[in-house]
Amino acid sequence: MTAMKEAACVEIEKYTDDLNKLSQAIWERPELNFKEENAHTVLTDFLEKHGFEVERNYVLDTAFRAVFGKDGSGPHVAILCEYDALPEIGHACGHNLIAELGVAAGLGVKAALEATRTGGKLTVLGTPAEEGGGGKLDLINANAFEDVDIAMMAHPSPCVTAFPSCLAVVTCNIKFHGKASHAAGFPWKGINALDAAVLCYQNISCLRQQMKPDWRVHGIISNGGAKPNIIPELTELEYYLRAPTDAELNVLKEKVSKCIEAAASATGCTAEFEFDGRGYSNVATNKILANAFVANAESLGVEFTPPEQLAGLAMGSTDMGNVTYVVPGIHPMYYVGVKDCLNHTREFTAAAGSPEAQPYTLDMGKAIAMTAIDVYTSPDMLSEINEEFKNYLKN
Ligand SMILES: [Zn+2]
Ligand SMILES: [Zn+2]
Repeated sequence: MTAMKEAACVEIEKYTDDLNKLSQAIWERPELNFKEENAHTVLTDFLEKHGFEVERNYVLDTAFRAVFGKDGSGPHVAILCEYDALPEIGHACGHNLIAELGVAAGLGVKAALEATRTGGKLTVLGTPAEEGGGGKLDLINANAFEDVDIAMMAHPSPCVTAFPSCLAVVTCNIKFHGKASHAAGFPWKGINALDAAVLCYQNISCLRQQMKPDWRVHGIISNGGAKPNIIPELTELEYYLRAPTDAELNVLKEKVSKCIEAAASATGCTAEFEFDGRGYSNVATNKILANAFVANAESLGVEFTPPEQLAGLAMGSTDMGNVTYVVPGIHPMYYVGVKDCLNHTREFTAAAGSPEAQPYTLDMGKAIAMTAIDVYTSPDMLSEINEEFKNYLKN
């Protein structure tokens, strides 16, 4: 291990207790999307105390950025923290640990840069509302990543991998407009919007046979009409569409659009539908960065889950996906010490608050700090990362 990486790890170990207290303070007071006031306060106070230049309420009320180093002195690395919780079940996605390891990585990188007088800029970025709120989309739209070279974070999960398959996801809201009429008296005068909804549902179900194994389409009829004796004049459906890349998701959107239009055509209804503009992209893992992360984590003794055992474990969707389409990035998943424990369960909430999660979490903070150090100190690495990034966007 290089002296710089050593310095980063020593610094993180020095603050083991403080870092644990930080994630405990967030875990004990779970806060929902865009309301993470306590987390925002404890994280910004901590980073300020440790010498970062902190901008509170950055872009969003509960977002922040904490900066160390000068513009143009070297690569600009952003380490992202999440800290929102889920309704009723608290920190069942372990975002308190994401915040902890992000801050840990920040402390480590800062100490290493300072000790060796190495140039480079570091931002610890507080990103609220991952759970459905898409806080990172607002930060992207406000140009928060404009001068950032790479972005990294790590997420608790049942497995350990630097190559998670986080699917691109988009919501589709559908309305069918028909014509009301007495369903027994003059049914021939009506145009049945429920028939359109049922056909739409069935068209999509038929399509499923020709979908790729990792595509997902799932929906509900949220409004099926008012009363049996009225031919329904309005029905509504809500669908989620998911695919491994944004490009494949576009193909899927096209196919689902045809299912909707066909249902309208067959029934004489008109269809009104849109794909929500706040969808999440897939995580476009930068392989050069991910491989560096794996090497660093393995040097700390981290064991990665064999690829054949990953099926179904590293799935889901995240707004970090959108970030990886703006700057090169990674979103590794890591194990928190409780076997067969799945995200968004009460068992996972307990795991995220338990002492067992701590060593695994600090290892991730160290591995991310070490990967940032690779970027600061390897002259060609950033241009190679950018080359890969540009090629990915082209395809
Ligand atoms: Zn999560
Ligand atoms: Zn989650």
